[in-house]
Amino acid sequence: MDFGGKEAIIIAKILVKTTNEDLTDERIAELSEVRLNIVRKILYILNENKLTEFQRVRDKRSGWYIYYWTETFSNLTNLLSERKDAVSEKLDIRMKFENENFFFMCNNGCTGRYIFIDAMDLNFRCANCDGGILEEERNRKKVNFLKDTIINIRS
Ligand SMILES: [Zn+2]
Repeated sequence: MDFGGKEAIIIAKILVKTTNEDLTDERIAELSEVRLNIVRKILYILNENKLTEFQRVRDKRSGWYIYYWTETFSNLTNLLSERKDAVSEKLDIRMKFENENFFFMCNNGCTGRYIFIDAMDLNFRCANCDGGILEEERNRKKVNFLKDTIINIRS
C-alpha cells in the first residue's frame, strides 16, 4: 500500500469540515485531489478502526451502490483509552513480576539476568557469556520506575 499519513489527514479534515453535503468516495477524491483508489483504502482503514461509517444506497438508474461517508472520530477517545488500559495492564504484570522475584545479574557486564530459581539451576554461573558470576541485582529502582509510569498513565 503506497500512501502516507498525509493523505489520511487531508481526508480526515474533509470528513470533519464537509457537513453541507453527502460525501461519496468520488466526491472526497475530488475535494482532496487524492487518487480514488487511495481514498477508498483510507476510508476502509478508518472504517475498520471504527472511525468512519457509511450508508450504502443503490443508485436506481445504474444499479450500482453508492457509499456515503461520515466520520466517527469521537470513537478515537475510546480507542486511545483502550490502548492505554492495555499498556498499563502489561506494566502492572511486569511490575508484579519484578516485585515478586529476586534477580541475578552477570558480573561480566553482559545482559544475563536471571530469576533466583534459574540462577540456582545454573549454579550462579552466567549461561549467556560463559562463566560470569551471577550476583543479586538491586531492582528497587526499576520497580519504582514502573510504579511511577503506571500511576502516570492512569491519572
Ligand atoms: Zn554473562
